Amino acid sequence: MTLPPIPNTRQPLADQLTALLEQLPDPSGGPNTGQLEQELAEAFDVPHAVAVASGTAALHVALAACGIGPGDEVLVPALTVVMTVAPLAALGATPVFIDSDPDTLDLDFDDAVRKLTARTRAIVPVHLWGRMGDPAALTAFAQEHGLAVIEDAAQAAGSARSGQRAGTLGAVGCFSMKDGKILWSGEGGFLLTARPQVAEHAAAFRSHWQPAPPGQAPLSRLATNARLAAPLAVIAQANLRRLPSLLARRRAQTQHLIGALQQAPGLSPLAPAPGEEWNGFAPLAHIDLPRPRAFAQHLAQQGVPNSTGSFRLVPCDTRPMFTSTNPCRGAAHVLDHTLAVVLTEHDTETTLDRHAAVILREADAWTG
Ligand SMILES: *Cc1c(COP(=O)(O)O)cnc(C)c1O
Repeated sequence: MTLPPIPNTRQPLADQLTALLEQLPDPSGGPNTGQLEQELAEAFDVPHAVAVASGTAALHVALAACGIGPGDEVLVPALTVVMTVAPLAALGATPVFIDSDPDTLDLDFDDAVRKLTARTRAIVPVHLWGRMGDPAALTAFAQEHGLAVIEDAAQAAGSARSGQRAGTLGAVGCFSMKDGKILWSGEGGFLLTARPQVAEHAAAFRSHWQPAPPGQAPLSRLATNARLAAPLAVIAQANLRRLPSLLARRRAQTQHLIGALQQAPGLSPLAPAPGEEWNGFAPLAHIDLPRPRAFAQHLAQQGVPNSTGSFRLVPCDTRPMFTSTNPCRGAAHVLDHTLAVVLTEHDTETTLDRHAAVILREADAWTG
C-alpha cells in the first residue's frame, strides 16, 4: 500500500511569511487571524470560529463564554490529559471525573448520572485519539440535565460520527493546533460555535475584553490574553488548505500500521464504531499481554512512541493534585491496555514498517 503524499506548500508559505515579516511589528495584530477564522468556519461548516493561542486557551475561553465560574461543577472524563482540566481550575470551577466504558471508550453515562449535583453546569466530552462517543447519547444526557456541552476536540479534527462532526455537537467545540495534532501551527487553537453570543464573548475574553461584545465597554471586565500570533495564523492557514490531504495521509498511515499488526500476538485493533468516521489520529490496539502498560513502556524504549509508554498518560483522576477516593476503573483499564502509537505527517511507510516489525518482535518475545 502506498501512502498518499502530502502536498508541499512550503514555498507559498515561505513567501507569505516573508511578506508578513515586512509588516511586523504590527500592534493591530494584522488581518491573518480574522482570515483564518473565516476559513476555519467554512472548512468546518459552522457559523463562527475564534482562533486562540492554544487548545488549553480554547477550552479556557469557551468555558468562560459559557458562563462557567467559581463554584460550578463540570463533568470531565477521567480518560483525558490534564490540559482538559487545567482551564476549569483557572476559572475556579471544579472538575468532576466520570468514567468511560472500556469496550467502546464512550462516556459511562450511568456514572455521570451518579455524579450530578445541584452545581453541575456542563460536560466536557473528550474525543481522545480522535475517537468519538455516540453524539445522540451525549446530547440526550446533556439536554435531560440542562448541561452545556463543551467538546475537547483537540485530537479530533476531521472525525465525525452519525454524520456529526467532532467539535459541532454542543455549545462549543475546542481544538488545538499544537505540533502533533493533525492540523498544526506550532502552537495554537481555535473554537467553533453556532452561537453568536458565545463567539463574541470568546473573542472579547481572549483579548482582555477588547473588542468588547456589542453594547459593552472595552476593558470593562478582567479576562486574559489568549491571542494567536500572526505568523502562527499564517502557518495555520497553509495547513488548513491541505487538511484534506493531511487527514487522508493520517488515515492511511493508521490503516497501514494496523494492517501490519494483524498477526501480532496479544494485540487486537480497536475498530471505530459503526457510523464513526474516525480521523485515524493514532493507530490503536488493545493489549492482551501480561503487564500491558509495561509492554507499552518497553515499546517506547524500543523506538515506538506511544501515549502511555512515552507520555505516561494515566487517568486524570489519579494525578497527584486530585484526591480521588473512588478512581474511575474503566478509564484505568483503557489506558493500561491500549497501545496508541504517536504519528506525525512525516512518518513514511518505512517508519511504519519498522514500528510494526518492532511491535511484532517484542510481542512475540514478551513474557511480562
Ligand atoms: C493537545 C490537547 C489539549 C491541549 O492543547 P494545547 O494546544 O497543547 O494547549 C487538550 N486536550 C487534548 C485532548 C489534547 O490532545
